[in-house]
Amino acid sequence: MIPAVMPTYARADIVFERGEGVYLYATDGRRYLDFGAGVAVNSLGHAHPHLVGALKAQAEKLWHCSNLYRVAGQEKVARRLIENSFADTVFFCNSGAEAMEGVIKVMRKYHHAAGNPQRNRIIVAEGAFHGRTLATLAAGGQAKHLKGFDPMMEGFDRVAFGNLNELRNAVGPATAGILVEPIQGEGGIRPASMDYLRGLRTVADEFGLLLGFDEVQTGNGRTGKLFAYEWAGITPDVMGTAKGLGGGFPVGAILATAKAASGMTAGTHGSTFGGNPLAMAVVDAVLDLLLADGFLEHVRQMGKLLWDELGKLVDRHPAKIAERRGAGLMLGLKCRMPNADLVKAAMDGGLLLVAAGDNTVRLVPPLIVEPTHIAEAVEVLDRSLAQLAA
Ligand SMILES: *Cc1c(COP(=O)(O)O)cnc(C)c1O
Repeated sequence: MIPAVMPTYARADIVFERGEGVYLYATDGRRYLDFGAGVAVNSLGHAHPHLVGALKAQAEKLWHCSNLYRVAGQEKVARRLIENSFADTVFFCNSGAEAMEGVIKVMRKYHHAAGNPQRNRIIVAEGAFHGRTLATLAAGGQAKHLKGFDPMMEGFDRVAFGNLNELRNAVGPATAGILVEPIQGEGGIRPASMDYLRGLRTVADEFGLLLGFDEVQTGNGRTGKLFAYEWAGITPDVMGTAKGLGGGFPVGAILATAKAASGMTAGTHGSTFGGNPLAMAVVDAVLDLLLADGFLEHVRQMGKLLWDELGKLVDRHPAKIAERRGAGLMLGLKCRMPNADLVKAAMDGGLLLVAAGDNTVRLVPPLIVEPTHIAEAVEVLDRSLAQLAA
């Protein structure tokens, strides 16, 4: 018999009933230190009073009115995102895949509106993940995600992640743009080098392509900058973000320059729920905290501390951990034993982690994490690694 909830996930047998800060409380009474943060979503931890207050206040006034009317919250949040990014304009949606689907549409439409409809192909990277809709699955190109869902959507050309020569050679008369994650998340916390990101900008400019970034996971303070592209000192033309943007409220956004969005006129794109007043009230509150003086500096400091501690773990358990990688509070341990075993052992020890591709375990704690939490997590990891077979 099929479960009532369609069994598309291999779920851990835990039910959480409450969260507070970096801790989650399960129905069996156990407390867990949450270094998975709902897959890099609960950027401000659980039940943050500022977010709860914003959601409650908005809930008393207006939940939804559709995009047939102006939405004050969208105008405010869009202005704040624009002031703090490369973007001139923002489209709100409800998830990461939807944001990336929109990024793909913006890229194609730009060339169509510029009189070059033949330029409709996008260069993407091996190991990428852009979501589970049909277009984003095709962009990600992971065989395990695509199996059984043929025909695959056309329009993507794949190159090795990090190889500029290969990328340059893939550019042709039908190329519309380039789409990459500054750090591949689901692919296993694989950071692009700064030179690679700058090189992508150069190639895009040279061939008149749009440079698109997927900052669904890297965005919203996760790497210690509001957006990860800032580390490279370049800007994309269009970008999708989601995960941490709503701190747990489902919301995504497409950010674009005026030029990139020049084809996105009335009627070209839409979403019934996208950017509804509830979502916008929460994002506004998330931005209050992310943009507060010293907050991103705190993320960088905690990231450095965790990075250093992970280095010691790698040294202590060389037969089980190959390396640490990532940036800010988006860190990964590349395992030599099955990553799922470490996730399981840590969970038994009261620490939540997330597995990723390339046999990696992700550490993506809430950005409000403090040194005591990092020490607690590292202790559980150390104990888990010691008890696991190599
Ligand atoms: C999670 C993720 C997505 C998909 O987001 P959903 O909200 O699950 O649709 C897309 N791109 C990246 C880089 C992600 O990490």
